Amino acid sequence: MGDAENLWTRDPRTVLRAGPDLDLSALDRHGRPGWAGGKDEAKAFTARRGRLLSELQERLFAHGRTGGDRAVLLVVQGLDTAGKGGIVRHVIGMVDPQGVALRAFGVPTEEERQHHFLWRVRRALPRPGLIGVFDRSHYEDVLVPRVQGLVEEDVLTRRFDEINHFEEEIAASGTTVVKVALMVSYEEQGLRLMERLDRPDKHWKFDPGDVDTRRSWDAYQSAYADVLARTSTGVAPWYVVPADRKWYARLAVTELLTRTLVDLDLHWPGVSWDVAEQRRRLAATMSEESLREAASGVEDRAAEYRESEAAYAAAVADASSTESRRGG
Ligand code: ATP
Repeated sequence: MGDAENLWTRDPRTVLRAGPDLDLSALDRHGRPGWAGGKDEAKAFTARRGRLLSELQERLFAHGRTGGDRAVLLVVQGLDTAGKGGIVRHVIGMVDPQGVALRAFGVPTEEERQHHFLWRVRRALPRPGLIGVFDRSHYEDVLVPRVQGLVEEDVLTRRFDEINHFEEEIAASGTTVVKVALMVSYEEQGLRLMERLDRPDKHWKFDPGDVDTRRSWDAYQSAYADVLARTSTGVAPWYVVPADRKWYARLAVTELLTRTLVDLDLHWPGVSWDVAEQRRRLAATMSEESLREAASGVEDRAAEYRESEAAYAAAVADASSTESRRGG
């Protein structure tokens, strides 16, 4: 599937995973952990992986359409300008939108406020066969109120427990949860916000409140550190993605998602009807001329299918083997 070189030297699920010893304040937000190339290679490789991601998504969709229970939920968190929208546009944008359930979470509405904080989130979970994408999520409920000093420690602790339990439930129901925290640096955030002010076509993206949030930078950083420490679990780990280089963040999330889907080991579903019998039934409704035309393409279609399956198998092998091939 394409020529762009795979320059991953480590599995991003290993290098980016938030472990117990993560020190968020020491994270190099300009870094590119596990990737041995630069921007051009990354862009080319992201496009190549996109073709595999797209096929994986179609397989997942077919699985869901035929009674399968698997789904994937990508949770994207990050402060303003971290690049959440870019992930949706450039990573999720590589797959068929019909297979995606995208939900952006803003300040809770009047109705949402009258319910438990997980109420609106449960309603947005992906059905089997879909890739659910949360642009912000239930994690806002342990970030914003905390930084604003609106919740006591015991409420916060209860919410963390509820979140962990909720995600265990989601995983048990067949949905693989992938949580991505995009980490932009203070300097880079300042530059990206200023750029929005410099360009009238970007003004709509700017909210004067973004500057207030920025002034609470340290509080948000420690709130994030706490979230990562308390909710990175075996069934729903956090991946901490340096986001100062947009190309790296997109490349990394593409790879995390692709490898997650590869691990689902998805196959084209079998059917309960007989192909030969349906061929006969259909043929009985067609003209001689159409039947001749269809027959002339049989070999080509068989070859196309074989080639596509072989390319898929090779791409899957490539997305499975980095760690072992390069010795980790
Ligand atoms: P972006 O997510 O890129 O900022 P936006 O500004 O268009 O996009 P909004 O609809 O304004 O999105 O919603 C985002 C805002 O909602 C953020 O400031 C976020 O912190 C806030 N928010 C989301 N969920 C909650 C929550 N549960 N409690 C408080 N604030 C929340």
